[in-house]
Amino acid sequence: MRVTFWGTRGSVPTPGPSTLRYGGNTSCVEMRTEAGTLLIFDSGTGIRELGLHLARQAEQVSAHLLLGHTHWDHISGFPFFAPAFVPGNRLAIYGARDPNRSLRDVLAGQMHPTYFPVPLGDLRADITFCELDEGTLHIDDAVVRTHLLNHTCVCMGYRVEADGFSVAYVTDHEPYGALDDGLRVSPVHDGDRGLVEFVRGVDLLIQDAQYTPPEYAERRGWGHGSTDYVIDVAVQAGARRVALFHHEPTHADADIDRMLEACRTRSREAGSTLEVVGAVEGEAITLARGIKKPG
Ligand SMILES: [Zn+2]
Ligand SMILES: [Zn+2]
Repeated sequence: MRVTFWGTRGSVPTPGPSTLRYGGNTSCVEMRTEAGTLLIFDSGTGIRELGLHLARQAEQVSAHLLLGHTHWDHISGFPFFAPAFVPGNRLAIYGARDPNRSLRDVLAGQMHPTYFPVPLGDLRADITFCELDEGTLHIDDAVVRTHLLNHTCVCMGYRVEADGFSVAYVTDHEPYGALDDGLRVSPVHDGDRGLVEFVRGVDLLIQDAQYTPPEYAERRGWGHGSTDYVIDVAVQAGARRVALFHHEPTHADADIDRMLEACRTRSREAGSTLEVVGAVEGEAITLARGIKKPG
């Protein structure tokens, strides 16, 4: 299985010299199984470049787009996803069920003539919609589990098992019960325990690490996590590797470097062998046989 980051930034695109290394496009992650099944997580502005890449690779594209939620930074690239315009391509779009509005209506809304020249209904690909509750679904050779997150709107986290590996995509998410003393995962809050169980033992955890702990203290209720919380979840879950994701727009590359170092220190102090990386736009992580941990 190969995981490629096309957009790693949170909230708003941030092109410019200070974000060259980690990237300025908003959330989009490609996951490709060995059999070729294509899963795409979120359609932030990063999906535009992914679409061009796919169009260069093959005449026909069949993709499964799994949206965590529909805030702008997770859907605003969708109207620029070139394969959606091509007859014969197939695009299955999944998202958390919202009792107040359909997933299709939300995506059509941002393509209303007020905002965009081409309405959703004019897209020529075969597009289907699937609204999800918590549970398990099978997409070709991938088993996908869903888990509701703690955000400011209905928001779904995903865990994929394929090729003998597991990857979790958890953004945007705020601690349920962060404690004041260092924001360690609350030992008592069912929500945090539930997330730890959901990502237990994954080979790669991609998680919202938007804030440093002091920043988070100032932004409680905004729906995002702190780096300490991400490390605590990853360590307690026994994840093999964690990728800090959904980078804060005001953070320059050097800020994210410092957050990474703090995360590695926290993980070491907890006695963990967790590998901590920052999600880098344009980089891929390959999970292949031979490097799988035993057992
Ligand atoms: Zn976001
Ligand atoms: Zn959001």
